[in-house]
Amino acid sequence: MSAAEAVTEALRELHARFVPLREGSLAEYIPQLARSDPDAFGLALISMDGHCYGVGDTRAPFTLQSVSKPFVYALALSLLGLDEVCRWVNAEPSGEAYNAVSLEPDTGRPDNAMVNAGAIITTALIPDTPDAPRFDRVLGCLSRFAGRELDVDEQVYASEAATGDRNRALAYLIRSTGPLPVDPVAAVDTYFRQCAVRATAMDLAAMTATLAHGGVNPLTGDVVVSGPVAAQVLTVMATCGMYDASGDWLLRVGLPAKSGVSGGLIAAGPARFGLATYSPRLDSTGTSVRGRAALGALSERLGLHLMHNPALAGSTVTLIATADELPTAGAAPRARAPRERVAVVAAQGALDFTAAERVLYALDEARPRGTEPVVLDLVEVTGVDRVARVMLGGGLGRIAAAGARTAVADPSRWLDLPGPGGREGPGVPRGFATRARAVAWCTGDGPG
Ligand code: GLU
Repeated sequence: MSAAEAVTEALRELHARFVPLREGSLAEYIPQLARSDPDAFGLALISMDGHCYGVGDTRAPFTLQSVSKPFVYALALSLLGLDEVCRWVNAEPSGEAYNAVSLEPDTGRPDNAMVNAGAIITTALIPDTPDAPRFDRVLGCLSRFAGRELDVDEQVYASEAATGDRNRALAYLIRSTGPLPVDPVAAVDTYFRQCAVRATAMDLAAMTATLAHGGVNPLTGDVVVSGPVAAQVLTVMATCGMYDASGDWLLRVGLPAKSGVSGGLIAAGPARFGLATYSPRLDSTGTSVRGRAALGALSERLGLHLMHNPALAGSTVTLIATADELPTAGAAPRARAPRERVAVVAAQGALDFTAAERVLYALDEARPRGTEPVVLDLVEVTGVDRVARVMLGGGLGRIAAAGARTAVADPSRWLDLPGPGGREGPGVPRGFATRARAVAWCTGDGPG
């Protein structure tokens, strides 16, 4: 058994545990959906590195239905921006069923893009031009999220088009109430087609992993949407993705999710994974019974709840010391008068706001008098985001401006500081390729 089998094993256990669950029934209002295999059951997970894990029916195609909604919402947000989309579709949980007439009384604006009324407008907002027809844009975007060309199940499309009077009625109602710049009635057919796009549980895991990965498909590297758009979509999935059961889902499972009446269910662990399940028997809210049970159990077992994400204390700062406490690699201890005490702080991993706060706090702890020279060692740091760069630059700048020599061992040049020979005057932090050089500069032994 390979080491990574452990992940598959966790999925396998869940699969075995919930296969006997035969409650619920197939969606019947789209007649063609009532013909799906009620016993199909697949679980798929894709990591941010594009590692794919699956058990059961992960390669069986089925139609996206409402699982398409967050991805088309992502397309609308990319093309029009959050403010413009929010003018026409709100982002509040409706607390109502997927096909409810949830329109604001005065404006006719639907509560959110995850219920049908909001999804129909969202689709209508996608531009429709001769060179790029609306549905081509939608299918192209869904395919990029999946990392392969998806297609339409024409029979399911025809079945819904023949019976979709409630959705048509919703579109007419929306048109009658609001000053919408687009025609929802004309777009409802595109909405039916987007619901009939065919994918597998593994495709859905890739699509969800792309949202979790800041909009970059972890299988293809394709930047499908921007990081902010991916975060906006995940937020609306978290608050509205499970219709009238969204609050309970967020409370118990704690992951942005979206269900569809064909039996697909997706859940994202932001910056961690994309998950998808397929099992067509639905509960009264239109969510897959096994999917809900399996994702709930998985979240609990693997500690995936968004709000249970304890930052690992102590994992950023690996060292707070003074230079004379540290071994000097390769050099015999030199007998000389005690030099000025140089504080040394080393950090590791990816630095964001939380990690940068730890580093700045450690810099203060390492300099009890507040006047000692200091070396910050970033050799083991693997990334510094924009916020951390500004925070570290500001904190180090303050130390240097107060007159203490301030050196950073930063071979990757995360902070882009001038070297020791730079033209900047004193009072500016300096960057070095190694900790030893940084310490030497602080003690006056090095160049500069
Ligand atoms: N095509 C379905 C409808 O619009 C999707 C509903 C769902 O999956 O929740 O009624």
